[in-house]
Amino acid sequence: MSGEQLVVERARKAFRTGKTKPLEFRLHQLRSLHRFIAERRRDIADAVKKDLNKSEHGTELFEILGLEAEINVAIGKLAEWAAPRPVEKNLLTIADEVYVQPEPLGVVLIIGAWNYPWAITLQPLVGAIAAGNAAVIKPSEVSSHSAKVMEELLPLYLDKELYPVVTGGVTETQALLKQRFDHIFYTGNSTVGRLVMEAAARHLTPVTLELGGKSPCYIDKNCDLRVACRRITWGKFVNCGQTCIAPDYILCEPSLQNQVVDEIRKCIQEFYTENPKTFEDYGRIINQRHFKRVMALMEGSTVAIGGDSDESECYIAPTVLRDVTTESKVMQEEIFGPVLPILTVSGVDEAIQLINDREKPLAIYVFSPDNKLIRRVIAETSSGALVANDCLVHFTVSALPFGGVGNSGMGRYHGQHSFDQLSHLRSCLIKKLNMEGVNAMRYPPHTAKKMGWARFFLLQQVNPGRLGRMATMAMITALAAFVVQRFFRRH
Ligand code: NAD
Repeated sequence: MSGEQLVVERARKAFRTGKTKPLEFRLHQLRSLHRFIAERRRDIADAVKKDLNKSEHGTELFEILGLEAEINVAIGKLAEWAAPRPVEKNLLTIADEVYVQPEPLGVVLIIGAWNYPWAITLQPLVGAIAAGNAAVIKPSEVSSHSAKVMEELLPLYLDKELYPVVTGGVTETQALLKQRFDHIFYTGNSTVGRLVMEAAARHLTPVTLELGGKSPCYIDKNCDLRVACRRITWGKFVNCGQTCIAPDYILCEPSLQNQVVDEIRKCIQEFYTENPKTFEDYGRIINQRHFKRVMALMEGSTVAIGGDSDESECYIAPTVLRDVTTESKVMQEEIFGPVLPILTVSGVDEAIQLINDREKPLAIYVFSPDNKLIRRVIAETSSGALVANDCLVHFTVSALPFGGVGNSGMGRYHGQHSFDQLSHLRSCLIKKLNMEGVNAMRYPPHTAKKMGWARFFLLQQVNPGRLGRMATMAMITALAAFVVQRFFRRH
């Protein structure tokens, strides 16, 4: 038996004991996860510094705070999320208990990516724990320092059997993917996403695929360019551009291009100083492979800002490219680095068309004071999310489902969406054995009169929230008496 098989079997065995069912157990694990983050801040920050050259405050802001917020929401709302959810009934089932009961799926595999190694790996775990699952956690081998700390320290806080951490690269991940899981939650690129889905299909395992893509950013001509460019500069160059929802490229009218370049130049200087290379809040490309990939993407384009690099440090300066076209190399794949191309379009019509000619992105950004224009972009395009007049911030709203559509992924998470995504929403209908008379309309022989009644009973929706219990019971009794009298006397 392989090590991976052993780990999954152990997790399944632990899950089958039923110990994750009581909410108290889940709350305890969530509180322990919170304690892990609080007590091990230093270890986490040191690991991320080594992996991505991120400053301690940067890690706090982009990894830790969001995670803490997710844990707090889950702890505060778990009882509500896990409770039976009454649904609307038809008249036929008005006397029955009809509700949705969330139940754990079983053993979930979480495959993380390297760009935010903690947030991306542990946020799905919050949902998995809250929903009462076991979870095998596979951090990315690319952010190796974070993976090592996670492997060493997380088991000191969480149940070891239920939430094991498996480290390793492609071989280990593929060995894991051969095992049977009840859900696979994958974050990463879409090529591997396809492999994950193929492997999952062999066991009919559902998947969540949190993928990437090219997220466009349209700047309208009537915009406050100073503010727009501050927000775009922040959203693009944070984490050295290695953010799945970073604005990938700018679309604007030709008359705006020079001003946009000037404003972004000012912001880069303000945020990262004259020399970003020596500034503590400017990161590095994760490794040489990605460094070479990003550098190659710039070939054939005109550099307006930045462009310098140092391979020995995996440093690429915050870079803006001007007069880029859809044929340029940089437009053929997700950039995932600190390079921001500007493409000029004749206006919002052409921007919408350009966006719709490509794969559905994870996010679309629109900067405009014109609410009508914003609504139009929402109505005429599709993407995982749309944010107007800012970048990235939708990630912080746990009530918003986070995820892609089409090529940018499938499934969603954050807050209750994580809980629902990693639960089975089971339909429950509990009837009593009395009132058999009402059922005659569905038993043979089928007659036109019975059909009429069936039509009446099945097509009426009854919202349990709006009717008081007493009123409901009175209505049922009256209806039942009426039906039995009118209907059964003749059959
Ligand atoms: P990565 O290289 O860390 O790969 C992700 C995971 O896949 C790792 O755990 C790795 O072990 C595993 N893996 C890699 N190759 C594999 C193979 N051949 N078979 C099985 N498993 C394999 O990360 P990445 O793919 O470089 O991540 C960057 C991508 O992820 C970007 O496209 C980015 O947009 C996307 N992303 C999306 C989100 C989101 O929430 N939607 C978040 C972060 C990153």
